[in-house]
Amino acid sequence: MGKIYLIDVTNRDGVQTAKLGLSKLEKTMINIYLNEMGVYQSEFGFPTTKHESNYLRANLRLHAMGVLQPIHLGGWIRATVEDVEKAFELVPEIKDLALSISTSQQMINGKFQGRKGEQDILNMAVESIEAAKSHGAQNVSINAEDASRTEIDFLLRFACAAKAAGADRFRYCDTLGYDNPFSIYEACKHLAQDVKMPIELHCHGDLGMAVANSVTGAMGVVDGGQDAYINTTVNGIGERAGNADLVAVVLALKTSKDLAKKYKFGIPVHLKIASKISKFASYAFKVEIPINQPGVGANAFAHASGIHADGVLKDPQNYELYDFEELGRGEPEMVETGREIASGEYSGMAGFRYVMGKMGINFESRDDAEDVLELARYANVLAQKPLVADELVFIAKYPEIARELLTLTPLS
Ligand SMILES: [Zn+2]
Repeated sequence: MGKIYLIDVTNRDGVQTAKLGLSKLEKTMINIYLNEMGVYQSEFGFPTTKHESNYLRANLRLHAMGVLQPIHLGGWIRATVEDVEKAFELVPEIKDLALSISTSQQMINGKFQGRKGEQDILNMAVESIEAAKSHGAQNVSINAEDASRTEIDFLLRFACAAKAAGADRFRYCDTLGYDNPFSIYEACKHLAQDVKMPIELHCHGDLGMAVANSVTGAMGVVDGGQDAYINTTVNGIGERAGNADLVAVVLALKTSKDLAKKYKFGIPVHLKIASKISKFASYAFKVEIPINQPGVGANAFAHASGIHADGVLKDPQNYELYDFEELGRGEPEMVETGREIASGEYSGMAGFRYVMGKMGINFESRDDAEDVLELARYANVLAQKPLVADELVFIAKYPEIARELLTLTPLS
């Protein structure tokens, strides 16, 4: 029986979203929280983009140090030999790669304008997979962009060719959110049965069905005898109407009618981190969590009407499917209501030592404190908002990694 895994793409699809972005330290914090949560892989960025190089290499170092373990860190590039070579030139340590190419007639005609046909697409996929493997990639996911608008016969040929060339997973991209739960179930079951390789579900919410499509797509893959890897983002942040929300996908698989009996996670997922990661992403992206967001919204456990309030007080299960404690909610929160000393790019030593001291971090020498303060100032310049406690702790704990993350000098 196939199992279900999570591949979070907040640091790729999320940050490429119009009007939104994250600093490299914020991206690193997301990777840390995803690791704590039991997410199989973070698609952590773009290995061919030069300003990502230091961040990607620093995070791979955290992986080697055991800090970011056991999570996989996967880069995303186009399925061309040129991109593969550039990725390994800039980030030689990378082991997990997603290679993306359009497969639908709409996109082949619309993007390549008659310069490429189906055979060219197959060739590019095969050549880029072979190049990635020969450079040392251990896990290669071949991504069929616009898979949901691709003829199933071509999609099968594409996936079979990719598998024969050494691809480890096939990513079914519902790039425009065009599928529905029935259509994606059928397509993915068919692919799993015929191609016999693990399949990723990459769903968008243009029709409000990203979570439902991810779940039923994964059911199709498992029913077809393969492992399913669901692509999610924190708070559903992603291109246009967004991607499948991480927390909602986990809640659905754990809680929806009879699902958990048959469809199981391959590694335990710790929902306790849900509230923390959701709040951090909201703060970092500067996007409020909708009041009615599943599990983490302000109203997810709020009851006002007489019948509901009475019912939930008698037995929470009358009106709640899951407990707030499961999501890491319910802890008292410290909010400064009087004088507040925040970290900033112009912070000085006294304020900084006060802020750090409140978190139980004391420095051995003034030099150590100066070093970390300087890094915190740079982190503030890049984030343009006060750092959260976990970020300051991270900088104090791993100053050398932080220095690398914060180095954005244009490379030659
Ligand atoms: Zn996407």
